[in-house]
Amino acid sequence: MLLLDRPSLPMLVLGVLLISGMVKLLTVAFGWLAWRTRAAERLRVYRRELSEGQLRNEAWAAVGVLLADAAIIAGFLAWTGPLHAPFSLPTALWTYAWMFVGYEVWFYATHRLLHLPRFYRFHAQHHVARVTEPLTALSFSVLERVVLMGGGLCLHYAALHLMPGTQVGIIAYMLTNYALNAVGHGNTEWLPKRFVTSWVGRIFFTPTFHAMHHARYQGHYGLYTVLLDRWFGTTFEDYPQVHARARDGEGLTRMGERLPVAASPATPSAAPEAPQAM
Ligand SMILES: [Zn+2]
Ligand SMILES: [Zn+2]
Repeated sequence: MLLLDRPSLPMLVLGVLLISGMVKLLTVAFGWLAWRTRAAERLRVYRRELSEGQLRNEAWAAVGVLLADAAIIAGFLAWTGPLHAPFSLPTALWTYAWMFVGYEVWFYATHRLLHLPRFYRFHAQHHVARVTEPLTALSFSVLERVVLMGGGLCLHYAALHLMPGTQVGIIAYMLTNYALNAVGHGNTEWLPKRFVTSWVGRIFFTPTFHAMHHARYQGHYGLYTVLLDRWFGTTFEDYPQVHARARDGEGLTRMGERLPVAASPATPSAAPEAPQAM
């Protein structure tokens, strides 16, 4: 057990709020420091200003997310604490791998559902950002957070019945999640052009990949991998071109802009842009 001698639930919530809140704020703060550099400004995916009041709006949403996450994670720890195995490297790695894969699937499925007109209002907070910045990583409605975090942790709970899991594995995954979230919302392309077409880039996302989701809505629903979007035909055809433009310091200046794609049978399928629900 990482948490000492079974604290009471309120103390557990407070402890998680402090620790998980601080980690989240630190990742966003580091993301911001990188985002504000001259190098980052040159590598913007969308060369546009944030909308008026966006930062204030997202900061308030972040307060709700920190509180909601603390309650969810503390409740989960109190509920499943005794089920966790003592630390061992193989168990931690298995837990990490399972959490990573489970979250990818859970996020893609719920994210697509949340873009349906009848559910979009629960996801609209995250799309206050058409142009993202690191704080967008914490801009969610409380309900969406319950679905995301609660569902992901419930998947882990189910896995605990199949194989032993450790809290170290979960914490390591959460750290990865927070860090990639801050980088992924930076609207800054740090990865080289060749990444997108490499085998690694055909598995993992880039900041460009997610920036395009915020700009266009209907496509690129995945979390930190592109596999489900590729398999379900929800990738944008001009993703490599948009990525290359950002790397050339010539990020897009219009939100709806599409780039020409050289005809090739190997190019991924395009997702049509549908009018937004809200
Ligand atoms: Zn986002
Ligand atoms: Zn979305």
